Amino acid sequence: MLFNKDQQDKLRGVQTPFYYYDLNLLDATLESAKSAADKRGFHVHYALKANFNDRLLERIQAKGFGADCVSGNEVQKAVDTGFPADKITFAGVGKSDVEIKTALRHGIFAFNVESIQEMEVIDELAGELGVRANVSLRINPNVDANTHHYITTGLDENKFGVPTSELERAASVIRDSKNVDLIGLHFHVGSQITDLNVFKSLCVKVNEWKSWFEERGTLIRVLNVGGGLGVDYLHPDEHAIPDFEAYFDIFDRFLERGPQQEVHFELGRALVAQSGSLISKVLYTKSGVKKHFLILDAGMTELMRPALYQAYHKIERVTQSDNKIINYDVVGPICESSDCFGKEVPLPESARGDLIAVRTAGAYGEVMASRYNLRNEIRYIYSDSL
Ligand SMILES: *Cc1c(COP(=O)(O)O)cnc(C)c1O
Repeated sequence: MLFNKDQQDKLRGVQTPFYYYDLNLLDATLESAKSAADKRGFHVHYALKANFNDRLLERIQAKGFGADCVSGNEVQKAVDTGFPADKITFAGVGKSDVEIKTALRHGIFAFNVESIQEMEVIDELAGELGVRANVSLRINPNVDANTHHYITTGLDENKFGVPTSELERAASVIRDSKNVDLIGLHFHVGSQITDLNVFKSLCVKVNEWKSWFEERGTLIRVLNVGGGLGVDYLHPDEHAIPDFEAYFDIFDRFLERGPQQEVHFELGRALVAQSGSLISKVLYTKSGVKKHFLILDAGMTELMRPALYQAYHKIERVTQSDNKIINYDVVGPICESSDCFGKEVPLPESARGDLIAVRTAGAYGEVMASRYNLRNEIRYIYSDSL
């Protein structure tokens, strides 16, 4: 059970829906990732886009992680939270001039550049501001992440990164630029990757492209292999902390690196997903001829993943019950048919007022909340206040 008896009593009076964050689990997860990375001399940047809740960010920053940002506002947020500028990277296919200037003014560690044109713009804007910019070239390595097609990013026909056929020209544009230094290569092949063989294939590609640059006389200081490590949505309690040892071990064994080369990671989901749950109340129960519905006071406006990519989240009651099991379609109040958290979910027979937990919601949950239907702003509660 997510909550002990005492916590369950306290929760009775709390207004729903809200995100619940287990800070102890977060700390344990961060410790596990950090020690496995430190042991191998790896650098880990946290991908803010997974969750930029203040209390979570503070703990991640305090633990010594860097920040991986995908917008100017995320760069600003990372700086405001206390992440050192030399541990901040900025990625994304569509960086605006204003965003690039924000990052240049803060003197961030590096831009992960996604096109030749973008590199030319960074060169020009850095010139205007009289600063130099470090860039890593995002290479599209054509590795199939075997994950949902909406969260696969490393294939050739994808919008992300520089296609390998353009690398020759990219290298020559960098050589001709006045204000840009190439420091690294960047790869990110997808998200929620649970088959570690995908990362093994990635290592092979990284080795190839690193050699390709070195053969052309360009030394690569940083190998940034992105993020994407998956979590267990089916068994949040049994596998609360991802196997960071196994994950980093793959890169330790298969990535070829020289003494001067740093290996960087950008983990989002794996660091925060299991620490968050969406807590909601049953508003109504309804039965059709064959179907039984649980209608919750939370919907796709609070947690969009099921509606957006048919994502599975474990759904459970907050309080124990010995009632007979019924297969429910668990739905939200929003006027969209896709506003459904799960179909045919086996749950003890439930009634109006019962509390329901949607698990593994700490990544890409709260950050995607919207005001559609003029819903309330999202609320949250931390474990240290229960
Ligand atoms: C989203 C993203 C990440 C983080 O992905 P996770 O699957 O949450 O680990 C890392 N790097 C880049 C470039 C991204 O876009």
